[in-house]
Amino acid sequence: MSQILFVSAEVAPYSKAGGLADVAGGLPPALKAYKYNATNLSPLYGSINCQKFKLKETTISGTVYLGKDAYLYKIWSNDDESHWFVHNDEFFGRNGIYTDARGEGFPDNNLRFFFFQKVAVDLIKRAHINPKVVHCNDHHTALIPLMLKAVNENAATLLTVHNFQYQGWFSSDEFGLLTQDEQNLINPVATQHYNAMELGLHYAHHVNTVSPNYAKEILEIPDWSFGLFDKIQSIKDKFSGILNGVDYSYWNPQYDSHIEHRFDVENTFGKKLNKAALQVHCSWPVAPDTAVIGNISRLVDAKGYPLIIDILPDLMELDVQFVFLGTGMEAIQNKLREFANAYPKKIAYFNGYDEPFAHLIEAGADLFLMPSAFEPCGLNQIYSLKYGTLPIVHETGGLADTVENWDGETGTGFSFNQHNSQALLETIVRAIQTYQDKKSREKLIQNAMKKDFSWSFAAKKYAALYKSLES
Ligand code: ADP
Repeated sequence: MSQILFVSAEVAPYSKAGGLADVAGGLPPALKAYKYNATNLSPLYGSINCQKFKLKETTISGTVYLGKDAYLYKIWSNDDESHWFVHNDEFFGRNGIYTDARGEGFPDNNLRFFFFQKVAVDLIKRAHINPKVVHCNDHHTALIPLMLKAVNENAATLLTVHNFQYQGWFSSDEFGLLTQDEQNLINPVATQHYNAMELGLHYAHHVNTVSPNYAKEILEIPDWSFGLFDKIQSIKDKFSGILNGVDYSYWNPQYDSHIEHRFDVENTFGKKLNKAALQVHCSWPVAPDTAVIGNISRLVDAKGYPLIIDILPDLMELDVQFVFLGTGMEAIQNKLREFANAYPKKIAYFNGYDEPFAHLIEAGADLFLMPSAFEPCGLNQIYSLKYGTLPIVHETGGLADTVENWDGETGTGFSFNQHNSQALLETIVRAIQTYQDKKSREKLIQNAMKKDFSWSFAAKKYAALYKSLES
């Protein structure tokens, strides 16, 4: 067994803001089948219930420096020590991962994640862990490759980019907190601003993103990497895409402990009962034949809300109900709330982050709406397939890699190519009409539920990549 250190800002089920947590929770255990033993490293946030997860303090502790200031850390771990957590109350004692209760980013986020990355490097430097490959994720961990180089540590590094939109810009004052050796490595690379993602792209031995199609789009469409297009062109020989998997022990209607009525591809009757439960939860009339469309997401424009907001009123004449679960931009929240007030029997909006309710939506809805402008991989459309909740998606990134458009004979969902309101409207209407045709609906549900996106496929690809980096 070779050792992997999997470093991420979030890891399910301990801490989660989005899909990154699902990947950090799902990929490492699946690597075992391919002879890789991974240890997760993530911060011990105040919101993590140590008692519930039986986390305990280990004997490992240390000090790292940011500028002249020394910061202490302690390592906590779970029972089998597969997960290590960095404890430091000043940086991580608060509840939020990146933002406060109002959704505002913490002003010291750069410092918090500089500290976290320094701890990862310190653990390697002091041989508390000896990874063959350090697997970094997104900009919060993208400085690790150069930090390792600065202390002459030569573990191989892989940077997985889950989203190019967030890059970890930092100021010259924050730059001043790094060591002279680190600064010397940054200076020749940084263009006009300090950007953790750019530095990660430069110094990681390999970079991948989370679906083959998104990797291809990133190489073709300048705007989608938000200023990093030239940098990515310059590293394209070490750049690839590996489709995420999903954890079917958690996202599976056959075993789902969050839902009352279990079902599987052989017997989907439970889905009807979950649909009724969902309609009750939304204070709607229970209407078995009405198409229920679900949506669960961070409320940001990139997830396609401008298009949804544009067309929702046009759909109100149809036999349809929409349930939205999400938190994020206030303007989007207000709009969804406004719609829910105007059409209480057809639209429900729940503000907040609610894992059990997300499972009920997956289990009870008939269709799942995910019209993202771009989507590195996307997980909810894959969960939806397993729950027979037919996805309606924009043909982009991982959405295009995982959902096959229904052509009357084959397919697992509904997709549209041009990202505009009219195309979305037509596709939702087409999905509702197809749903109302029993024969097509049943065939689609069977096709969708039989799809397999287990982590083992991705783990096999990551194992091959680790192997190529080790040698
Ligand atoms: P992203 O990582 O861009 O947010 P993904 O589709 O890759 O998008 O992953 C989102 C994950 O976060 C899914 O597991 C989804 O169910 C979950 N999620 C997002 N918002 C909420 C919410 N409000 N309540 C519960 N789960 C949510």
